[in-house]
Amino acid sequence: MVIMIQASYFLAAVLFILGLKQMSSPVTARRGILWAGVGMVLATLVTFLDPSLHGVSNYVLMVIAIAVGGGYAWQKGKSVPMVDMPQMIALFNGMGGGAAGAIAAVELFGAIDQTQGIPGIGVSTILSTDVAIVAIVGAFIGTLSFSGSLVAWAKLDGRFKRTSLVPQQHWVNLILLAVVVYLGVRLFDTDSTLVVLLFFALVLVLGVFVTTPVGGADMPVAISLFNALTGLAVGLEGYVLDNAAMIIAGTVVGSAGTLLTQLMAKAMNRSVWNVLFGGFGQASAGGEASEIEGSMKEIQSQDASIMMAYASQVIIVPGYGMAVAQAQHKVWELAELLEENNVSVKFGIHPVAGRMPGHMNVLLAEAGVPYDKIFDMDEINPDFPSATVALVIGANDVVNPDARNDKSSPLYGMPVLDAAKAENVIVVKRGAGTGFSGVENALFYQENTQMLYGDGQKVVGDLIQYLKKL
Ligand code: NAP
Repeated sequence: MVIMIQASYFLAAVLFILGLKQMSSPVTARRGILWAGVGMVLATLVTFLDPSLHGVSNYVLMVIAIAVGGGYAWQKGKSVPMVDMPQMIALFNGMGGGAAGAIAAVELFGAIDQTQGIPGIGVSTILSTDVAIVAIVGAFIGTLSFSGSLVAWAKLDGRFKRTSLVPQQHWVNLILLAVVVYLGVRLFDTDSTLVVLLFFALVLVLGVFVTTPVGGADMPVAISLFNALTGLAVGLEGYVLDNAAMIIAGTVVGSAGTLLTQLMAKAMNRSVWNVLFGGFGQASAGGEASEIEGSMKEIQSQDASIMMAYASQVIIVPGYGMAVAQAQHKVWELAELLEENNVSVKFGIHPVAGRMPGHMNVLLAEAGVPYDKIFDMDEINPDFPSATVALVIGANDVVNPDARNDKSSPLYGMPVLDAAKAENVIVVKRGAGTGFSGVENALFYQENTQMLYGDGQKVVGDLIQYLKKL
């Protein structure tokens, strides 16, 4: 029986790793998710059927938890619109962290129960030194990720917009972190439930406090960081429970999430410390962004289509608005039409365009855009000065030149796509809406920029119609 269980866990772990490997390419990603899902079902089934892992009396609770959690996830996963995917990821990520934190709580409270008030006996005596340390660290990371991810979800969903909850938020956060570390050390040898309760309560508050100031354009770094933390917490609690599948799944998620965090942080030009304890999303010089000079000029679809038809090179920059408008299929149709007119077309993708890592790549892949037409920021930026037209569709923050030029801009320091350097810039958006960061965009006021107002899908549809008539 034990060998069967271990073999099943091993198989589940192999499926996680192979699944993740396949997720590294959009071509095989769908299959990868399926494989990892099968691994997760297998691990859940084995845990469910292995009586050594729980009392028989827990079956009812387990069935209720699986029915509620599984039912909600199934229903939500099928109905969630693509633009709401980041919120869902934040929510599910938080649940993973919460589950790891809950496992740690069960272990820590259970250990304290067993100390039975005998002097000199504490958590580490009951659990052993290594397990106690791992359980406490996992408790900290998982619980922080839980409350932090919930705040990230509320922010992404537009339900929570505050950037501080107390005066001098960042200093309060640092003090709170110090108190939590102190309590974590105390926990190691404690026999008091109060210390455990206080520890968990303060870590929950810390998660809320460190995520609240995250604003501007920095949320992607925070989300991928919580993703990494959740994986790590699950791996650590797997060690506590001696569960190989949890250790491997957690480590895989933790390391993949860490790499993603590094990539996101690099893309945003932020350090992870700055993400959590720095002056997040606030103007680096402490002031308001400079007044923007110039005025916005409007262009009509017909003129825009003529301009593009006679261009030698068009670079399309998609952003969140393209996802909202679900315009990706039309955008690719437009690109194909332009290519038939001997216009060279490329797509320039910013690493944090949209609302989740790889958001634009997924949408363009779904529309059938070949990968060799899609270029990363570093690859495409040298091409902008020689492009006849940069067609910006629903992108805003990722093309804001102030991020390079204006030290007082809240976006200053974030690398951006150099659409501003193209000979002509056409910006498709519905009106005067700002981007995720809420910062005004100097690109829209530039001499070489013209605004093409309307819903992304409708406008691109019009462009296609006019191009066909030419
Ligand atoms: P953005 O800065 O959020 O701007 C999107 C623009 O699209 C808005 O200015 C909006 O203007 C326009 N828009 C909205 N609906 C539209 C529609 N139906 N048709 C046409 N235009 C529409 O987008 P972005 O340039 O892609 O930048 C992404 C931002 O999100 C960054 O600040 C990034 O840090 C942040 N973020 C990214 C992630 C990630 O992982 N990628 C996660 C969280 C946050 P109108 O309202 O005037 O139309």
